[in-house]
Amino acid sequence: MKLLKEKILSEGRVKPHNILKVDSFLNHQIDVELMNEIGKEFKTRFNDKEVNKILTIEASGIAVASITAQYFDNSKVVFGKKTESLNLDDDIYKTEIHSFTKNKNYNVMVSKRFINNGDKVLILDDFLANGCAALGLIDIVKQAKAEVVGVGIVIEKGFQPGRAEIEKFGIKVESLAIIDKMDDNKVWFK
Ligand code: 5GP
Repeated sequence: MKLLKEKILSEGRVKPHNILKVDSFLNHQIDVELMNEIGKEFKTRFNDKEVNKILTIEASGIAVASITAQYFDNSKVVFGKKTESLNLDDDIYKTEIHSFTKNKNYNVMVSKRFINNGDKVLILDDFLANGCAALGLIDIVKQAKAEVVGVGIVIEKGFQPGRAEIEKFGIKVESLAIIDKMDDNKVWFK
């Protein structure tokens, strides 16, 4: 996606440990106009799929999923919660995920009320690195006996193994920008 790649080149900053910082348009401040184009592009990429729910993880996935949902007949958006709270139902699906950016494990929880047998779920996230976040969401959909129709990613770091891990399950992965290589302050796309 040309617009997204241009934005990454002009505003992205490469940090140590293979982290790309894009907080000026995706992870902190949000460029809604760009997000709209991202939503349309996901619709084009998954146009052949029937989708009635979009699943993501808080926090950055929520904006991506919510704007994209408008292009999928206003599918419901469900996001995995990372913290236990009194507000959360007792009846939950739970999975453990290793955080690439924080280098620690955490639980992701989704109320059993919001994903059901028969749902056709599109999983969306901001980044794909080693695939732990996406695999955790796939696990939740499986616990619910629902179907994963695909995984859509805004920025994939193609030099990390996430895509291969997801494709092992026969699941279609579509990324809007795939980074081939990063060093100091430069990014190369595939
Ligand atoms: P994975 O679970 O695939 O290893 O990593 C994906 C998750 O880690 C995403 O949900 C994202 O929040 C975070 N992440 C991984 N790599 C990056 C990165 O380079 N930049 C940012 N901002 N987040 C990342």
